[in-house]
Amino acid sequence: MIRHHLSDALLMGYSAGQLPEAFNLVVASHISMCDECRARLASFDAVGGALLDASVDDLGESDAAVPESSLAATMARIRAAGPVERTRPQVAPRRGLLPAPLSRYVGGDLDAIRWKPVGGGVRQAILPTDKAASARLLFIPAGAAVPDHGHRGTELTLVLQGAFSDASERFGPGDLEIATAADEHSPVAEQGMDCICLAATDAPLKFNTLLPRMLQPFLRI
Ligand code: ZN
Ligand code: ZN
Repeated sequence: MIRHHLSDALLMGYSAGQLPEAFNLVVASHISMCDECRARLASFDAVGGALLDASVDDLGESDAAVPESSLAATMARIRAAGPVERTRPQVAPRRGLLPAPLSRYVGGDLDAIRWKPVGGGVRQAILPTDKAASARLLFIPAGAAVPDHGHRGTELTLVLQGAFSDASERFGPGDLEIATAADEHSPVAEQGMDCICLAATDAPLKFNTLLPRMLQPFLRI
């Protein structure tokens, strides 16, 4: 039962091919796990496709063809923003724990992940993406906390196994947490099962305690 979904902005950006590779990976992975967002994406794709057709058909009159709704206007602006050639990971059902778009980056399932310890029992594996944003897998032992931190940009965290809680909210398998520069948080993995997440950030995190801050350059968080 997924409770925390993709925002319209992320679905639009994904549909228009405007997200950094690391965010594309998180969006595609969530969509692989979530029927609701897969359906929402289909309608964003349809709107985008219709706009594209309209602007091609009406040569020069494309402005008149753009419907007035804010969604359509936003899609039009995104598409007008420039050439869009970012490839979008394919969405397919998952066979192991990892959604298909993710297992292609890892080169297999859980057993193929090359974890590196980052302290406190937490482990990470950085995934190869372009530099616009970074993506990593995080392993948080049951009951353990990720050090308290804030954000300079946007951080997307998708739960693949186990669960974590953050303030009063719980995030279980398939749930996506979207944290922005306004949020500071300290996610804690639930007891009973180790938590594995896919996280993407488009700017370095701001840690509130000294040790993680000193380690940051080495951990590339
Ligand atoms: Zn969803
Ligand atoms: Zn965070």
